[in-house]
Amino acid sequence: HANRTNGIDKNVWVEFTQLAAAYSKVNLGQGFPDFAPPKFVQEAFCHALNEGPMMHQYTRAFGHIPLVKSLAKFFSRVIGREIDPLEDVLVTVGAYQALFSAFQALIDEGDEVIVVEPFFDCYQPMVMMAGGKPVYIPLRPKDTGAVVSSGDWVLSPEELASKFTPRTKAIVINTPNNPLGKVYKTEELQMIADLCIKHDVLCISDEVYEWLTYDGAKHVKIASLPGMWERTITVGSAGKTFSATGWKVGWAISSGHIIKHMKTIHQNTVYHCATPAQEAVARGFEREYEVFETPESYLKQLPAMLHRKRDKLASLLESVGLKPIMPEGGYFITADFSSIEVDFDDPSCKDEAKDARFVKWLIKEKGLATIPVSAFYSPEHSKDFDKYIRFCFVKEDSTLDAAADIFRKWR
Ligand code: PMP
Ligand code: GLN
Repeated sequence: HANRTNGIDKNVWVEFTQLAAAYSKVNLGQGFPDFAPPKFVQEAFCHALNEGPMMHQYTRAFGHIPLVKSLAKFFSRVIGREIDPLEDVLVTVGAYQALFSAFQALIDEGDEVIVVEPFFDCYQPMVMMAGGKPVYIPLRPKDTGAVVSSGDWVLSPEELASKFTPRTKAIVINTPNNPLGKVYKTEELQMIADLCIKHDVLCISDEVYEWLTYDGAKHVKIASLPGMWERTITVGSAGKTFSATGWKVGWAISSGHIIKHMKTIHQNTVYHCATPAQEAVARGFEREYEVFETPESYLKQLPAMLHRKRDKLASLLESVGLKPIMPEGGYFITADFSSIEVDFDDPSCKDEAKDARFVKWLIKEKGLATIPVSAFYSPEHSKDFDKYIRFCFVKEDSTLDAAADIFRKWR
């Protein structure tokens, strides 16, 4: 086998999704909605399938023309600058492949990539597969007593500045963040942007949860800050936008001089992604363009619905003594389990992190699947953050009620 596979063989989704399937009654682990996408995109998909033979064949490598046009039109308005559909957009197999293509296209052997912890786990192996060296910096809870919101988790400007070296090629940020739900404020993004500009560093901004913000938190695109468009790759996902994670349509938006190199990777790896799914997503964005910021917009309805679900799950967690960090955005609640007094130490997994052992106990003893948060940390920092587990609340009310039953019996 190739050396690049060394040390990255373990995968939290593979492991915990298998355990959830084998033992759990209620799955609040892997992040996906257990409800259907909105009617208008489902109908668009069916329509595409019946539209004629070409909808079943290859389409343009870098993105089906209707999709790159609708993405460019939609995001030009959001970002306040003209996006060129042919030069500045690359359609990918989910956000995963946008990230993979970015690292492969931009990172050389020995380049350093700053990764903010907790981070979506694939950033680390993707940087390493490109020959890069991840350099980690954790968000830390502010020293103000009880932590109630993901907004209380912040970067230290001095610590961040100290991570930039002459070898730094890029920084990866994720807003709203998975798993914490932190939504970066403009001042926080400006601080990151200033460092990127000062050190001539690229920014990979994973914004798959961009529409999902709560309590008035506002998602800001770092690419919209002065001097950042030219150096930012913004990653998005139709899976998260339209609650259709199985379609695996994602995209990268950036300046043409960056997208050009990502196209080189893309054309020599997957070439393009499924045509009818791209057609359906194109129609979805056309529809959302027309109803933008009106009550009919799915991108307004979805966060309103999820806000309720978030609050429902948070009070369930509190009822058993799990301490939720209230997320300002995204799919997940991170909760502190350190005040739960149970013996979760199965001798068969004594070498594993404390949160992983707790999650296994929860799955096997209570039938409830979640995800250990140490999976979102580097080995050097995971020990400092092993008292948290992650719950997904993007679920039918009946699923959350089934979780409530488990909690009721537990109390
Ligand atoms: N980034 C983050 C932060 C995620 O949570 C996920 C998982 N949805 C992805 C990227 C991958 O997205 P996709 O399913 O579109 O490949
Ligand atoms: N992004 C989803 C999560 O964080 C799922 C990722 C995956 O299954 N690979 O739960």
